[in-house]
Amino acid sequence: MSATQKHIALNVDAIRKDFPILNREVNGKPLIYFDNAATSQTPQQVIDVIVDYYSNYNANIHRGVHALSQEATDAYEQARIKIQKHFNAKHVHEIIYTSGTTHGINLVANGFSSLLKKGDEVIVSALEHHSNIVPWQMLCERTGATLKVIPMNANGELVLSEYDALLNKNTKLVFVNHISNALGTINPIKSIIEKAHAVGAAVLVDGAQSCPHIRPDVQALDVDFYVCSAHKICGPTGVGMLYGKEEWLKKLPPYQGGGEMIAEVSFEKTTYAGLPHKFEAGTPNVCGGIAFGAALDYMNSIGFDTIANYENELLVYATKQLEQIEGLKIYGTAKEKTSVISFNVGNIHPYDIGTILDKMGIAVRTGHHCAQPIMDYYKIPGTIRASFMFYNTKEEIDTFITALKKAVIMLS
Ligand SMILES: *Cc1c(COP(=O)(O)O)cnc(C)c1O
Repeated sequence: MSATQKHIALNVDAIRKDFPILNREVNGKPLIYFDNAATSQTPQQVIDVIVDYYSNYNANIHRGVHALSQEATDAYEQARIKIQKHFNAKHVHEIIYTSGTTHGINLVANGFSSLLKKGDEVIVSALEHHSNIVPWQMLCERTGATLKVIPMNANGELVLSEYDALLNKNTKLVFVNHISNALGTINPIKSIIEKAHAVGAAVLVDGAQSCPHIRPDVQALDVDFYVCSAHKICGPTGVGMLYGKEEWLKKLPPYQGGGEMIAEVSFEKTTYAGLPHKFEAGTPNVCGGIAFGAALDYMNSIGFDTIANYENELLVYATKQLEQIEGLKIYGTAKEKTSVISFNVGNIHPYDIGTILDKMGIAVRTGHHCAQPIMDYYKIPGTIRASFMFYNTKEEIDTFITALKKAVIMLS
């Protein structure tokens, strides 16, 4: 290995042993799981943490004097520190537990209701997931602010000259995903953030698709808000995090009222708790938070350079083979992209191909991938999307290509 290569080669055979689900069969065939952009699989190390929690110290947190409650509180807060370290947040109270990306976005959108007025402008990108479009439309309806869209080009890249033209002194907020779930495009968020800051706008980055592949440094990015979901990073569903700069989190009002988020309550007046508790009303997903921390430990034990390098090999390998299939068109050919391939073959409906692949044990996603504006741009109803994680193999890709060719013959 040359000195320029930082990564260590990934031992995929050893890694696959960590994922019990990869041993199962579907329709009598070994499972090939290529729907990782929708949710990733869970290693035994994380499953063990979940089983241990419910077997040994399941309790409500922060309120109990008893041992179980204290153990659960400690583990939950330790996990918050792991998340802080992972994303390099300056303060641990800048990490807010959420139920996932969608919750984090809504929390911020709701908070901005009281900070925006008519005439203000909010910018989103053409590459967004619905969860990063609809909350902003709702915010604009509530406040009278106007929604503007950074357009995309045929490669699935944002047209940054158009972004420059949209920015002005009325721009208050910019929302963009780090990586598009439908096409895999990696957006140049550092420069998007710098340009927004130059006109005094705040930026929220949707990191749901980036966190499984790269390790974002929120201070280096100077991002105002960053959100993700644990279930796309080898963790459980129903938990995620919102990073917010302290100054912003202090400014935003609470999202939900309830237990845990208050300092004092009377019928005359309630004062809110400090950060992070102000945004964490009610009993949280305690086990989920702890398992989220374990998932980050697991990913870091492999190393994100190693992961990204291996996944890029899979991307290049699969892309080359797909390109040889007659009539196959890949959507999203950005220079910078992750291991997501969206495609169609001729006029065959993506759903029909997806159904046949499932019969052969292969899980892909078909449809609009919660990103209808992208499909409208290409004038298609949807695509077939194969998305790879570091536990996938070139042999699986070979099997997938053979199965796909069979499906195309059957459907043509
Ligand atoms: C998955 C995804 C979301 C939504 O995440 P949830 O876990 O469903 O809240 C948002 N944005 C992108 C880019 C995604 O991939």
